[in-house]
Amino acid sequence: MVSYMTLRATPTRVFAVFDMAHILPSGRCNFRDGQRLMALRATDEFDVIIIGGGFCGIATARRLLMAQPQRRVLVLEREAFFGPAYRHPGPMHQLNTPAVRMTACPDRPQEFVEFVRRLGHDVDDRDFLPRAWYRHYLADCLAAARRAGLQVRLDEAMAIEPGSSPEYWQVRCRSGQVPWARHVVLAVGAERPRTPVAMRDAADHPGYHADPWAPGAWHVAATQRDDPIVLIGTGQTAMDGIIELDRQGHRGPIIAVSRRGLVPAAHAPVAADASLQAAPAPVSDWPLHSAVALMKAVRARMQTTGDWRRVSDELRAQADAIWQALDPRIRARLLRHARPYWDICRHRLAPEVARRVERLRASGRLRIVAARLLACDPAPDDRLALTLRPRAGAEGSSLSAARVVNCTGLVTDPNHPDTALLRQLLATGRATVAPHRLGLKPLAARLHVLGVRSRGDVWEHTAVPELAIDVDRLVRRIVASFRSEAV
Ligand SMILES: Cc1cc2nc3c(=O)[nH]c(=O)nc-3n(C[C@H](O)[C@H](O)[C@H](O)COP(=O)(O)OP(=O)(O)OC[C@H]3O[C@@H](n4cnc5c(N)ncnc54)[C@H](O)[C@@H]3O)c2cc1C
Repeated sequence: MVSYMTLRATPTRVFAVFDMAHILPSGRCNFRDGQRLMALRATDEFDVIIIGGGFCGIATARRLLMAQPQRRVLVLEREAFFGPAYRHPGPMHQLNTPAVRMTACPDRPQEFVEFVRRLGHDVDDRDFLPRAWYRHYLADCLAAARRAGLQVRLDEAMAIEPGSSPEYWQVRCRSGQVPWARHVVLAVGAERPRTPVAMRDAADHPGYHADPWAPGAWHVAATQRDDPIVLIGTGQTAMDGIIELDRQGHRGPIIAVSRRGLVPAAHAPVAADASLQAAPAPVSDWPLHSAVALMKAVRARMQTTGDWRRVSDELRAQADAIWQALDPRIRARLLRHARPYWDICRHRLAPEVARRVERLRASGRLRIVAARLLACDPAPDDRLALTLRPRAGAEGSSLSAARVVNCTGLVTDPNHPDTALLRQLLATGRATVAPHRLGLKPLAARLHVLGVRSRGDVWEHTAVPELAIDVDRLVRRIVASFRSEAV
């Protein structure tokens, strides 16, 4: 934990910055002497303000300060650092990407692996490591940035407005503070899942957990061990939940429901001689004039190579170029028809996680059901009664659960009620909704978007390997703009 005071001189002012923010193990800050801090920081000036303290925010701050240590950089985080992926990982949760691809610095590919080795673990580049170790790594990156002068505040950015001089943005925060900077980076990630419409009559029921990342969503008390639990969704979030319920000693039935009942595929263990980076064929080899032709070509390539994982990795490596070459109508068709299949092939489970899930299915304790959820109502004994329409049959069916957890996944709809900042940017015309509602496109100079919100143009930028490259590119652009201003 760090506590220090710095005196900063700028061309316009001299002011003291008391930086007493401590990052606690929870990822939250402890602002000692908070009131004095607030008074001192009614407004202040930075070179770059980064909104969001998840992977993208932390990696950007650190890369910026590595490139230009003299820069004044502020990270604003509204909740707790590290984002939902790494904030509170369970002990059994594993990264679904081989360790060497999880570096936050693309020009130091071994950084994460070496960090884990320094912790005393004997690991290989190809291992799928615990997500908790990645959290330690991000905490280490954040600590390094703070040693280099990064300031952090636990505050929500509510609006971005023009500053008093044209080259500055000011960021209006929930606390009333208004820091300003030449560049503002939106690294806000996605929002929590929305409660499905079919759950509206049970939304306030104590057995319904709207947020799968909230404390308590997966807690199993001794009296709840045999309870039937229903998960809405069968993707990565549901698999995380299933693993955690099992770890906590839950023995009752678990039923995971989604429209198609598709479960993420498993990674094959990575052979020691295998390349971790797919070497794709040229984009022009794919038929890009129609969604049907493209899907047929993908299936054919899977058959000829006999290795669907390889084809999925090749497509991932070319995803930007393919996406940008596609007509918007074809993109829309692929999103509608191919996306669920792409998601389960591309976002795969670590081999050990997949084995555990498979064991639970084989034992009959876990059922995956392909059905549409029609309704959920409070029932006697604090239970919830769910009505489903199975995909294959016309007859409705029902389930009774002691707990229902919403695992429908993070959402990037900019009109989500939790995104006051994004709605303000849209209302003022400083940003527009990206094509296919895949995030946000900034329309103003020195306003940047990173992470899943930038997917409109690049599609497959959701995981660390792609995000780390995006961070690197953005840092280069910002540094270049500072250099050109200095000339
Ligand atoms: C459960 C899970 C597991 C994953 N596992 C892997 C994996 O194994 N390998 C891999 O490569 N990828 C994985 N990913 C994907 C990827 O690594 C993460 O989604 C990535 O961490 C996204 O980082 P981010 O900074 O863009 O967003 P986030 O991590 O979502 O961080 C955004 C932060 O911004 C804050 N924020 C939002 N709005 C405001 C505001 N107005 N003011 C201030 N703060 C704000 C939020 O509170 C949040 O902390 C996983 C994702 C999830 C959800």
